[in-house]
Amino acid sequence: MLRSVFTRSAAVAASQVALTQVRSHGNQSCCNNRSMADLLEMNKEWAATISSKRPDFFKDLAQQQTPEFLWIGCSDSRVPANQIVGLEPGEVFVHRNIANVVVPSDLNCLSVLQFAIEHLKVRHVIVCGHYNCGGVRAALTDTRLGLADNWTRHVRDIYRRHTRRIDRIPTDEGRLDLLCELNVVQQLHNVAETTIVRNAWAAGSEIQLHGLVYGLADGILHQLIHLDKDSAPYTTEMTARRLIQNAHAKAGIKSAAPSSGDSTA
Ligand SMILES: [Zn+2]
Repeated sequence: MLRSVFTRSAAVAASQVALTQVRSHGNQSCCNNRSMADLLEMNKEWAATISSKRPDFFKDLAQQQTPEFLWIGCSDSRVPANQIVGLEPGEVFVHRNIANVVVPSDLNCLSVLQFAIEHLKVRHVIVCGHYNCGGVRAALTDTRLGLADNWTRHVRDIYRRHTRRIDRIPTDEGRLDLLCELNVVQQLHNVAETTIVRNAWAAGSEIQLHGLVYGLADGILHQLIHLDKDSAPYTTEMTARRLIQNAHAKAGIKSAAPSSGDSTA
């Protein structure tokens, strides 16, 4: 489903190659000690490379944007929305914050969501988390970061809801992986519960919601949950339960039956 939408044309693939070629310009060792002047020069070369292959690319793009996807992801520099799914400028509308959190009091995120759905008419909303997320780790370990502690409190609330089940996993990595996944599921649920999405679905919109997690170690995305207007109300809870069971099985733990006060919603 999502894979078919992401299928790229030969022309798009060519421009991705161009981007890669520009990034490796001059055989510079990646990323270290670059100045602002370097970035401006690389930008000129990137634009020239794209224009040489597709002369009308920027002229066409300047007329309008018609992205089919809204991406709500983590601010982590290792998880750039366009690059990891092979999308070009103009193809994905992006909102990012620490730990890809969606809360109904965040006017920034809600404004992006409403604009994307009602004006850009995106067909897919993606919440993308990633393994080894620093924001999620801070929530899990109650590490003090500063002002961001108040933001990651939303993730800590998810940990608190699932504490007994997460803490049964013996490794730090295993516990963090599971909380990263549960965070994606909860944040996608929060998207589905906004008045923006509920109104869109009530009006007959076919908009699809996808919860993804990205592996920093292998560059692969995994779809954890998919919601649409016909999804059963308990889909989120069932997905969280499945992820917990999978994590326990991976750690060799037999999952206990759910008990009151340990909701998986
Ligand atoms: Zn992160």
